[in-house]
Amino acid sequence: MDVDEDYEPPSRGQLDLPELTEETAHTESTVLLPPRFIFIKHHPIAEKPNEIIPLESSPSQNHPASDPGASNTRPEHRPYAPFRTFADYKFASRCVKRRMPNTDIDEDLRDMRNSVYSSDCFVTFRDHRDLNQSLAAARVSNVPFHSKSFFVDFKGSHFANRYKIDVEFRDPWKIMKRWICDETLAPVSTWYSQEKYLCLNGEIDFSTPLYDEPWSGKTWREIDNKLPDKARYPACFVGLHVWLDKGMVSTKVKMHPILFRGCWIESATRNGSGNGGGTLAGFVPPELRQIDPKTLSSSMRTEYDQLKRKIYHGVCCLVLSSLRERSHSGEAFKFGDGVTRTAYPGVLIESMDFEEIAAWLALRNSKALHPCPQCLVHRDDLHRLTCTYPDRTTASMARALGDAPDGSKTAREEHLKKYGLHDFPHFLWEFANSDPYKAVGYDALHFWDGGVFGRHMWVVIKEYLQENRLASTFNERMDQFPRWRNLKHLSSATTIDYSEGQTFLDILKCALPCLVQLVPSDSGLVQLIRVMQKVRTMLGLDVTTNSRLEYLGRLIAEYEKCCKRVSEKHDKSLDFLKQHFLSHAAQNFVNKGTSRNQNTRIGEGFQQEVSAMYKITNGKNAEHQMTIIDENEETMARLDMQVEMWQKSQGMQEDELIPSADPQLSAHWTLGSPDSRVSPTRLERTKNDDPLFRNFNMQLREYLARHHPSYPVRILPCKALYIEFQSAVTWKGERDILRCNPTFHDKPRYDSIIYTAEDDPLAMGQLALIFRCFLPHGVKVDLAMIRPFRNSSWQPRTRTDCPVRERKSSAMFVALEHVVRGALLCPIFGASREAFYVIDCIDEDMFLRINGID
Ligand SMILES: [Zn+2]
Repeated sequence: MDVDEDYEPPSRGQLDLPELTEETAHTESTVLLPPRFIFIKHHPIAEKPNEIIPLESSPSQNHPASDPGASNTRPEHRPYAPFRTFADYKFASRCVKRRMPNTDIDEDLRDMRNSVYSSDCFVTFRDHRDLNQSLAAARVSNVPFHSKSFFVDFKGSHFANRYKIDVEFRDPWKIMKRWICDETLAPVSTWYSQEKYLCLNGEIDFSTPLYDEPWSGKTWREIDNKLPDKARYPACFVGLHVWLDKGMVSTKVKMHPILFRGCWIESATRNGSGNGGGTLAGFVPPELRQIDPKTLSSSMRTEYDQLKRKIYHGVCCLVLSSLRERSHSGEAFKFGDGVTRTAYPGVLIESMDFEEIAAWLALRNSKALHPCPQCLVHRDDLHRLTCTYPDRTTASMARALGDAPDGSKTAREEHLKKYGLHDFPHFLWEFANSDPYKAVGYDALHFWDGGVFGRHMWVVIKEYLQENRLASTFNERMDQFPRWRNLKHLSSATTIDYSEGQTFLDILKCALPCLVQLVPSDSGLVQLIRVMQKVRTMLGLDVTTNSRLEYLGRLIAEYEKCCKRVSEKHDKSLDFLKQHFLSHAAQNFVNKGTSRNQNTRIGEGFQQEVSAMYKITNGKNAEHQMTIIDENEETMARLDMQVEMWQKSQGMQEDELIPSADPQLSAHWTLGSPDSRVSPTRLERTKNDDPLFRNFNMQLREYLARHHPSYPVRILPCKALYIEFQSAVTWKGERDILRCNPTFHDKPRYDSIIYTAEDDPLAMGQLALIFRCFLPHGVKVDLAMIRPFRNSSWQPRTRTDCPVRERKSSAMFVALEHVVRGALLCPIFGASREAFYVIDCIDEDMFLRINGID
């Protein structure tokens, strides 16, 4: 593919700075620095100057269509990738659907670019060639599947045999090379490790390292340190993310897919299912399907399990075999950014649940004496979260296997048990830069939400509620929990026995106001819920720093104490692997970047893709030769589906939108779902049964008299408010969609907001009316009428640090320019007065904001 010469890579808002060292940093103060910024120190091997990314940006710059590329304003999701802009995607989609001839496409593009239709055009294509280039990138870049076989010679008394195993897979090296060479992925690719520092005082300061993407982690940096530096071409590590899971089901077949991702690709693209997103590498073949393990005697079962392990290990070894030699000697070729480098592949991150990890690492299972994939903790110490144990590394495990006595089988087994090892070397031990133990990821959704909480702590709470006949009341309260975007509404939480991690996360977020007045005062269960909420929020940050991780460390110590109390009172054993693995979370973030690089959740739509791929590998569609038109239509259909899901998740489809009344056009709010225009007096009359609206007309007049000395001619009530704000977690743009609607999906919904008041930057209020005022001379003002919340000294039965507020009975007006973001407050059910919890764990931004964490 040719490089688009007119296309400049998006500006990163960076300042090129002289190479600064720690010693010279302060003497270079002639450079004018922004008040808050991220300082990026590239690894010396990258030969790039240091960078500064300012953190202050106007949230309105984050509009996806107008600013597709800049790194500090790039929207988190680009479902239309590899198209550069949403407009490009939309235009291409239309052309493909209508099967437009090239001449028509060129004519349309010419008119658009020559301002025939409007003065501003977001479509970046110059002609049909540009469009076809993007389409080529968008087509599923099919690295073909191929079939290979290997043999397992198994000695045993029950299953001795020579087994031929057929595997269909895609060569990971070919997949990786496609990504590396793809010019459209070059702007979202990072080839070398970086040290990032959060600087909040206008000075370069190395005291707060920051971690987000895999290249900000320590493991990558250590690998870069070891790369050869005097070769013909620059050396470059390209790390693979390996995902494995069982149980993905198409209509009839249970599957065991292996998925690869490229760690050098930015997470928004890498974690999606478009070009540069996770790619299916193959399936672990169903081993010996004809045998039902449940019918086997225990000695047969042991042998059968050994055989299964050999097969599994053989499959993984075969699938990754093209990387082994290259991980040592590399391969030189031209990268997507036009530079020739020698690429050294390796396995950087593994995302799997524990059962899968044990199989992948050839470790004994979670009941073994030493079950942890990253250290040698004894199973009786799994409840200890603030102790450290010897690390498991390639070197230490190879040594342990080498030291195993050869003579007696029993002695050999006993020795290996001390390390939780099975009796064979791991295939990744022969790879460079691919320590399989270090690569194990911390996945909050599986390990924490679905695991520690869903399978353990929630069970304790649920059983307590059931035994004390409190479960129904609890469920009723959960049913009354206010609705919030992306929060699943659960009306019978205690009846859920098995569900995905997300359901348990939603229970965790909602439980506090439902539980606190239901159980005796100073309840350990309430304190447990609260500390688990806080731990979870800090585990889920997309960007973390040393100071955030230190805070997480303190929370884990607090959590350990809470657990001890609950364990004693409710007879709950805490010696399970997921509990222990929390103690590795922070180090894993330091090593490989944050949780989103390591979680096992896969993109929406992946299941369909797996099914489609499965059909291809089965050869069912082999005779079907797809033409380019077919492929384009299919590609665009897939993108359409992704974009549609994305728009749905953004709530963009439900509302008719009207831009803010701000004449500068840089405002951070948009109104949605307008009613019809009315006069203030008429509105007051229609709401005459609502005491909040008594004197609405007079009060509005008074308010306007202070700010805009004129009388409103008409007002336009709206039922939705879109607020753009800068995330306190990532400093990128985010959007809240707030409802002020008596019948939103048939239920009244009045969301709350955070707004800046003169005396309080975190003032909160519940929306009662969102509206635009039309004043004389064409002046427009956007306002909200709210019921403000105030601080409360009242405390529920069990005191926690979750903020409590009371709601004032009178209303006031707030100009929408003062609205910061939405807020979720929930009544404390069963309280002796009307009091609310601020649900600060609803999202990470809210938590950092409310608790003043930088
Ligand atoms: Zn461990």
